[in-house]
Amino acid sequence: MEGMHCPFCQNPDTKVVDTRLSEDGHTIRRRRECPQCGRRFTTVESTMLLVLKRSGNVEPFDRAKVIAGVRKACQGRPIDEGDLKALGQKVEEDLRSRGLAQVRSEDVGKAILRPLRDLDEVAYLRFASVYRNFGDLEDFQYAIACPLPDRATQEAKRQAAQKGIGATPYSAVSVGPSRA
Ligand SMILES: [Zn+2]
Repeated sequence: MEGMHCPFCQNPDTKVVDTRLSEDGHTIRRRRECPQCGRRFTTVESTMLLVLKRSGNVEPFDRAKVIAGVRKACQGRPIDEGDLKALGQKVEEDLRSRGLAQVRSEDVGKAILRPLRDLDEVAYLRFASVYRNFGDLEDFQYAIACPLPDRATQEAKRQAAQKGIGATPYSAVSVGPSRA
């Protein structure tokens, strides 16, 4: 934030005398001095990247959430924690490099796809196929944890039902007393 006006005398040219990054890395505190009136004041600048979810909610970007989502797609694949950490960093750098204060949750998913493909094709395909239907990391994690029955399973069940194997016939009617 250059050209910060002095809040006391409105002088447009103030001088930074101290800069501190907060512990969580999300804000920068700057102590400023006005060369005209000599007074000091503090500004707090946010470095936070926000994510607009499909629900309309906005939340801070969370690298750990990205890693958790990708980790589920990587189950059983030769990918270690170091790979996941590096991927999380790449995704965050990609999103921040766009210079926007806010991105959409779909953008986060898309930013994951390329580095994940470079890492492992199978994990990429898993992630892409599920993520495409949800567009939100939390939904994605839920879907991976509770996978939908795949088409082959549904087809097998349908065929079994037609043959009357292991399924209740849909033509069954109530055998209770009628309410005539
Ligand atoms: Zn001033």
